[in-house]
Amino acid sequence: MDIVLEVCDTYLFDKFYATVLPKNGVVAQKWSQLTYGSVLSHNSTIAAAATAAGGVDGDSGFLFRSSGWSLPLPVQIVVNLIGKLQRKDEIYGKVPTQIVAPSIWATESFLARSNLLREALSIFVITTIFGWLLYFLVAGLSYMYVFDRRIFNHPRYLKNQMRLEIIQAATSIPIMVLLTNPFFVLELQGFSKLYFPIDDSTGGWNRIWWSIPAFILFTDCGIYFIHRWLHWPSVYKALHKPHHKWIVCTPFASHAFHPVDGWCQSLPYHIYPLLFPLHKVLYLALFLFVNCWTVMIHDGNYMSNDPVVNGTACHTVHHLYFNYNYGQFTTLWDRIGGSYRRPDDSLFLKDTQKEQDKKIWKEQVVQMEEIRNELEGKVDDRVYIEEE
Ligand SMILES: [Zn+2]
Ligand SMILES: [Zn+2]
Repeated sequence: MDIVLEVCDTYLFDKFYATVLPKNGVVAQKWSQLTYGSVLSHNSTIAAAATAAGGVDGDSGFLFRSSGWSLPLPVQIVVNLIGKLQRKDEIYGKVPTQIVAPSIWATESFLARSNLLREALSIFVITTIFGWLLYFLVAGLSYMYVFDRRIFNHPRYLKNQMRLEIIQAATSIPIMVLLTNPFFVLELQGFSKLYFPIDDSTGGWNRIWWSIPAFILFTDCGIYFIHRWLHWPSVYKALHKPHHKWIVCTPFASHAFHPVDGWCQSLPYHIYPLLFPLHKVLYLALFLFVNCWTVMIHDGNYMSNDPVVNGTACHTVHHLYFNYNYGQFTTLWDRIGGSYRRPDDSLFLKDTQKEQDKKIWKEQVVQMEEIRNELEGKVDDRVYIEEE
């Protein structure tokens, strides 16, 4: 995320913060009177900070280092221990920039680039806008070119469903981003194993290629168990039901979650780089891939009936019959956990006639209602299009 922030700071935010919160402005002066020596007023040039970052004590750059108040001893010990996990050469804003030269505004605000508040705020704005753009772009393209629109006639398609999906996703994305912000800030403060140079010291291209399946397998496993927990009756009711409102989906259902549900399911993506080395550009590419995959498994276009890949048909089965195919990328954990259900052959029939579709859907509804009754109870608060 530091690559993204560096580019945005250079071309957008440096000037914005320097104008709104200048180094010697009213807010800066008021703040320094209020909290003498606080970390918030700490601002040095990037070059000077880079030198400092190389040779200062263990908690350099950490939140509580230069605060005017002191913490209880046990908390200080824990803070110092955590500080030791920090990679001193990876603290955003305190080491020389890697992609573009800093702008003339880079050190003109009293909120330094490495300031936690500034990082959190900038990342929130960037990720929310990027999240919305990515969602509408990928789901929109899928809707136009891939999505099978016969689903509009399915008896379990909801009244105004696509509109409801879009409202749910668009309102959840900023909250999901807010909840994810601590991970991004941790990463920017040098607590992840993300790296940039590709050479012998970082494992070269070999590590890059290996980290792709490793990331997929790690997150596939994590999501499986989180998704199963989300189907625990009380958790399902509180968090996961909004995503199962859609018995059949459009691509816009991809991000239509309760925000805490979406955040829970994204946890493995953010935990991976805290534990394992991952190239920064690859991380961004995988972030894109994950979002495209999420749209793809909701688009109703059943291209693959692969026994290993958890494709669109598998996820359609999950939305239709709830208790099967919890996986994200592969069927591995569903097979181990006994929750795999082979997609119905009828999903792969091409060029079916209207009457044939109706017959297939009727069979799906009978099976679906039985499972839905068990999971959600007899009362179904969905309003289906056929009831109009
Ligand atoms: Zn589910
Ligand atoms: Zn889904």
